[in-house]
Amino acid sequence: MTTQLATKQACIFNIQKFSLHDGPGIRTVVFFKGCPLRCYWCANPESQSGKPEKMWDNQKKAMTTVGEYKTIKEIIDEVIKDAPFYEESGGGVTLSGGEVLYQAEFATELLRQLKEKGIHTASETTGSVKTDIFKKFIEQVDVLFFDIKHYDAEKHRAGIGSSNKLILKNLAIAIQSQEELIVRVPIIPNFNDSEYDAKQFAKLFNELGVQKIELLPFHQFGAKKYEYLGRKYKLQDIPQLHTEDLDYFKEIIEAHDISCQVQ
Ligand code: SF4
Repeated sequence: MTTQLATKQACIFNIQKFSLHDGPGIRTVVFFKGCPLRCYWCANPESQSGKPEKMWDNQKKAMTTVGEYKTIKEIIDEVIKDAPFYEESGGGVTLSGGEVLYQAEFATELLRQLKEKGIHTASETTGSVKTDIFKKFIEQVDVLFFDIKHYDAEKHRAGIGSSNKLILKNLAIAIQSQEELIVRVPIIPNFNDSEYDAKQFAKLFNELGVQKIELLPFHQFGAKKYEYLGRKYKLQDIPQLHTEDLDYFKEIIEAHDISCQVQ
């Protein structure tokens, strides 16, 4: 580790304890601020900017600041408090965002130091980063959750603001090198939720050799945050999806010999 990185800080917007849904066992989830993508359904719009920002709750007349700069030592000092729970449950630390790789050097070094201390590591990512940086990062990750939003480059660009080319390249690398990989697909109405979409995803996953996926049904948990940030939200009137709404999608994926769970 360089001396510079020892003192460098990353912008973090939450450290959530006792999570049971972000990898094996009991986990502490460290949420990184900043994301290069702009999904129009994003449920964490406060995570998109890489800097601290203000949120104003007009009902409570209260201002909160989202995001705080922390060093690796400060984060490790916090998460290590839960080490007994990791040991008992087979848990550990998960990085989430935003996009963790927006602050890739810091995240990679944080994971390296956690592993050095014997702590199991997991991370969520969109894989939207240069491939050499991605490769160094996944070397430090025990369980990788990799988000894919669309199989089609143009539709990806229309919904998210960038092509999926680099993302798919990095996914192929993760499939080759990662022992535990779970591909996640957020299912968004009128974006990637048709039977045709399910078949195209299945075809892509068969080609890449993806064996296990999770479907994340569209929800409205982030709607209020747009209001707090003074931003427009395009999906205000779109109903949430429920697990059973995605039975047809799951069946199509499973018919292609891919294990599929709806979260
Ligand atoms: S990748 Fe995640 S954090 Fe980034 S804009 Fe999309 S949904 Fe939001």
